[in-house]
Amino acid sequence: MKRTNKLSAEPRLVFATASLAAALASGCAPSVSTTTTTSAPAPATGAANPLFVESDLPYHAPRFDLIRNEHYQPALEEGMRERLAEIDAIAKQTAPPAFENTIVAMERSGALLNRAAKTFFGVIGANTNDTLQKVQEIEAPKLAANNDAIYLNDQLYQRVKSVYDNRARSNFTPEQMALVERYNRDFVRAGARLSEADKVRVRALNQELSKLSTDFSNKLLAGTKANALVVDNVSDLDGLSADEIQTAAQAAKDRGLTGKWVVPLRNTTQQPSQAELKNRAVRKRLFQLSTMRTERGDSNDTRATIRRMAELRAEKAKLLGYSSWAAYALETQGAKTPENAIKLLTDLAPAATARARTEAADMQKLIDSQGAGFKLEPWDWQYYAEQVRKVRYSLDESQIMPYFELNNVLQNGVFFAANRLYGITFRERHDIPVYQPDVRVFEVLDANGQPLALWYADYFKRDNKQGGAWMDNWVDQSGLMGFKAVVYNVANFTKPAAGQPALLTYDDVTTMFHEFGHALHGMFSNVQYPTLSGTNVPRDFVEFPSQFNEHWALDPIVFAYYAKHYQTGAPMPAALVDKIKQSRTFNQGFETTELLEASLLDFAWHTLPAGAAPADVDAFEATALERYNVAVPQVPPRYHSTYFSHIWDGGYSAGYYAYTWSEVLDDDAFAWFREHGGLTRENGLRFRTMILSKGATEDAATMYRNWRGRDPSVEALLEERGLKADSSVK
Ligand SMILES: [Zn+2]
Repeated sequence: MKRTNKLSAEPRLVFATASLAAALASGCAPSVSTTTTTSAPAPATGAANPLFVESDLPYHAPRFDLIRNEHYQPALEEGMRERLAEIDAIAKQTAPPAFENTIVAMERSGALLNRAAKTFFGVIGANTNDTLQKVQEIEAPKLAANNDAIYLNDQLYQRVKSVYDNRARSNFTPEQMALVERYNRDFVRAGARLSEADKVRVRALNQELSKLSTDFSNKLLAGTKANALVVDNVSDLDGLSADEIQTAAQAAKDRGLTGKWVVPLRNTTQQPSQAELKNRAVRKRLFQLSTMRTERGDSNDTRATIRRMAELRAEKAKLLGYSSWAAYALETQGAKTPENAIKLLTDLAPAATARARTEAADMQKLIDSQGAGFKLEPWDWQYYAEQVRKVRYSLDESQIMPYFELNNVLQNGVFFAANRLYGITFRERHDIPVYQPDVRVFEVLDANGQPLALWYADYFKRDNKQGGAWMDNWVDQSGLMGFKAVVYNVANFTKPAAGQPALLTYDDVTTMFHEFGHALHGMFSNVQYPTLSGTNVPRDFVEFPSQFNEHWALDPIVFAYYAKHYQTGAPMPAALVDKIKQSRTFNQGFETTELLEASLLDFAWHTLPAGAAPADVDAFEATALERYNVAVPQVPPRYHSTYFSHIWDGGYSAGYYAYTWSEVLDDDAFAWFREHGGLTRENGLRFRTMILSKGATEDAATMYRNWRGRDPSVEALLEERGLKADSSVK
């Protein structure tokens, strides 16, 4: 059960904007990008534009009460201009290069741009509109050019290099040392050591990649909306609950289709409604709408976009001296090389696919016993899995959902667990402005009652929201800047019809715990320099705190505290709880296989050498899955390439394996808690101090080893997923 949302729980923006923010927090160079950045509207309206000044709200929370669509573009433009000027001054100063006048000066630069970009990208992801999308199309390539102006500025790089080369003789704190090494690495990886001709090419590649990534986002959002299931006859929705049908009627009304029913698409291949829809033809239609959403040859088709992106990434990697984009991307990750990551995935594949085939055979038996007379297809999987689950565990989703009312899960589950572990408390703030009325804001107080952070929750699905779930910061914690963290979680839970409670699936519940785990990582950050703050860690480490936090959803003390019937307040009956626990390893063959398939497709694209992008996307996928020995016909990848947002616009290119890599850590870490008494303040404090507060100030693997007392082992993962028997066949 926790697996599904482990995946649907995607902190896309954790990385997308964290890397941007890191880049933004740095600096710039004067020459090149001035020409590209001055073509748009004059800065203007400084006084009237709330983004131009530091917010005077508590925690410097964004002034969503004042910010309008038209404020973003001038703030981004002026922010880029200011940043270039600041960086120019750093690069051209006559004082010899030193930590303060170069590295720290870069950390302080770009305040306006950082504020404007963080606000803009947060809203673009969660609550976009045509105006903002237009601004993004114009500004994204300029932001890329602005970064290049910094990282390809030789005068600036020579100063950074000088500080770096002298680091052994400098009296740096460990955090300062980490920062200097990070800067030097970022410059080198951006191309600072390339010839002038190659730098010109890198700039052009970054421009085009930035544009393509925005194109992909916009096409995917439009394609997902356009391919919602629309039915004229309510009997087609036979199997859905009365509430779900009411929600579908409302969704139709919202789209001006009164009298019809609309089931919007989730970001994944498989759609939750397939578990309930009795009409096989409707299930098939929904499945095809999902898989074909961006492959219809219309203006939302992404095939040419992703082929081009794969090609350009391979070319950029080659210029920088790497055999592939994956080799380039993984150099700074825990996995270090694509081979190491692929080995973990392909090592898990035999156990996963064997289990998936067994699951398929079980369902075929059920289909045959009902005399249905057809062969199991992907669009049948969830429907029959749900039947098998009912038979085997006599458990169905509609029985458990009344025990998972959103506000109750939040206050008595997510907050309760965090309070028990870390002593923090929460109070809702109605005086902090939001960008959409469904968004809620909470102030987080530390164990000693002192202000710690601000946290926003935006849980309900909207057509103008990207799919999945994620976390990011409006403001990064930093001692240097004197900022506490302002963090948000976004998800896509079904919004109930007016006046109805929001009842969650167990997957939704774990998504809440997951994203809140990222939030804790952001809020507990206790570092000096913004570049090293909070979740700005390697991708294959960033999912560790979030996936770790999922484990508490089923902790007996926590579960008993929140899983209460929304009408009667009665605790979930023990028999039902047992069923949930017993059914946890159910369908894990399917869930592990679809995850491994998607992870390996990511590597198939990003281990391509330059000039090798395939002509036919579908054929390329099929061949890759065969080659990695992970293909199961009834189990399609969790995302097909054409709507795989993580790897094209979400900052997870050659990085989707990170969920699995981090899972080794989170299962191993939870085993430590189990061995040490579970949910205690002592355990929580140790985890907070040694992991959650450190950001990227230490090497992730070292940090883990120090906390755990050894390197992680894959044993706990196999146990959790119930794959152990299959993997050690006698
Ligand atoms: Zn996550």
